[in-house]
Amino acid sequence: MQLGTQLDQLGRVIVNDFLNIDNHEDVFVIGDLAHFKLKNNGLPLPGLAPVALQQGEHAAKNILRKINNLPYTPFIYLDKGMMATIGRKKAILQYKGLQVSGILAWLAWLVIHIFFLIDFKNKIFVFLNWCWSYFTFQKGARLIVGKIETTDSQK
Ligand SMILES: Cc1cc2nc3c(=O)[nH]c(=O)nc-3n(C[C@H](O)[C@H](O)[C@H](O)COP(=O)(O)OP(=O)(O)OC[C@H]3O[C@@H](n4cnc5c(N)ncnc54)[C@H](O)[C@@H]3O)c2cc1C
Repeated sequence: MQLGTQLDQLGRVIVNDFLNIDNHEDVFVIGDLAHFKLKNNGLPLPGLAPVALQQGEHAAKNILRKINNLPYTPFIYLDKGMMATIGRKKAILQYKGLQVSGILAWLAWLVIHIFFLIDFKNKIFVFLNWCWSYFTFQKGARLIVGKIETTDSQK
């Protein structure tokens, strides 16, 4: 089914204050797929983990409100700063006026990312997986989501 949604230049779906597509109030678009404009500067929110986490939580709350026959509430983004790894032992952390970089920011990046993972088993699994990737210089885990077709010559 085609919803005829409006996309931005990056192919993200333009959403309204409630994270819905206009005229489709049962459809929510969140995270990297959503183009949500901030009221104060007119700029869209960046494709970052805190944005996706907060939007996911808000969309879930609005779905529960709908089930309970309550009106949707608008999404308000709480700026919790930005973090990015930029090397094997380096990261950058920005929060309002504060900027930290280097190994301290890298350690903070590790701890915070693991903290926000759901479920104790996931935390342990991701931590061990990262250790393995780090010490063996291998790339991180990749998910295979479908059956890979192979030709006769590859079998
Ligand atoms: C290399 C890299 C480094 C990054 N570093 C940082 C960082 O340091 N800090 C930061 O804040 N952000 C970082 N980001 C951005 C951050 O990862 C994303 O903003 C965030 O993961 C977006 O969450 P999401 O839920 O929208 O999408 P995703 O996390 O991409 O989740 C989408 C999920 O949907 C699944 N999916 C896709 N298609 C289908 C389908 N058809 N059916 C079922 N499932 C499907 C995918 O497998 C995936 O699990 C980084 C991103 C990349 C790629």
